[in-house]
Amino acid sequence: MTFTLPKLNYAYDALEPFIDAKTMEVHHSKHHQTYTDNFNAVIAKYPDLADKSAEDILKNLNSLKVDEKDRNVIKNQGGGYLNHKFFWEIMAPKKELDKALIKEIEKDFGSLQVFKMMFSELAVKQFGSGWAWLVRDEKGILKAYSLPNQDSPLTLGHTPIFCVDVWEHAYYLKYQNRRAEYIDNWWNVLKMI
Ligand code: MN
Repeated sequence: MTFTLPKLNYAYDALEPFIDAKTMEVHHSKHHQTYTDNFNAVIAKYPDLADKSAEDILKNLNSLKVDEKDRNVIKNQGGGYLNHKFFWEIMAPKKELDKALIKEIEKDFGSLQVFKMMFSELAVKQFGSGWAWLVRDEKGILKAYSLPNQDSPLTLGHTPIFCVDVWEHAYYLKYQNRRAEYIDNWWNVLKMI
């Protein structure tokens, strides 16, 4: 399988003013394209992986029959490919609220407001590059955490629900060092809550 850069369901300027068009364009057409190309290059070395989805590859990252250097490349580039693909899908210019998810968050975390504060803090405090994630664990329980770099919750056996990219390339053009302000604004373009 050759992985291709997914098309966005909205224009680069659709998430303005919360995420600016230039950031979206560079993030999608340059950063995501590079992860995609590098992922394809490493997978091309392993014919056994040719028919596997990116999800399967990352779920089974630790048991892939690849050399250790390439396992790390797959983690970073495959993670970068899939994390961004997912990130574009969980954002939208208009809310599409998931009422069942909102109820579950209220039940598990006390209130939506408490959850958002806690999740924002995870995102702001992730040291260096990485992502904050809301996932379901292997038992189906909601979990929130941050992971460094392009590490995928799939490798931990978890199913992503939504995430926010806190690499500087995700916000630097508009927000510079103000990561917390970017996160505050990002809630407006997360479609489901
Ligand atoms: Mn990114």
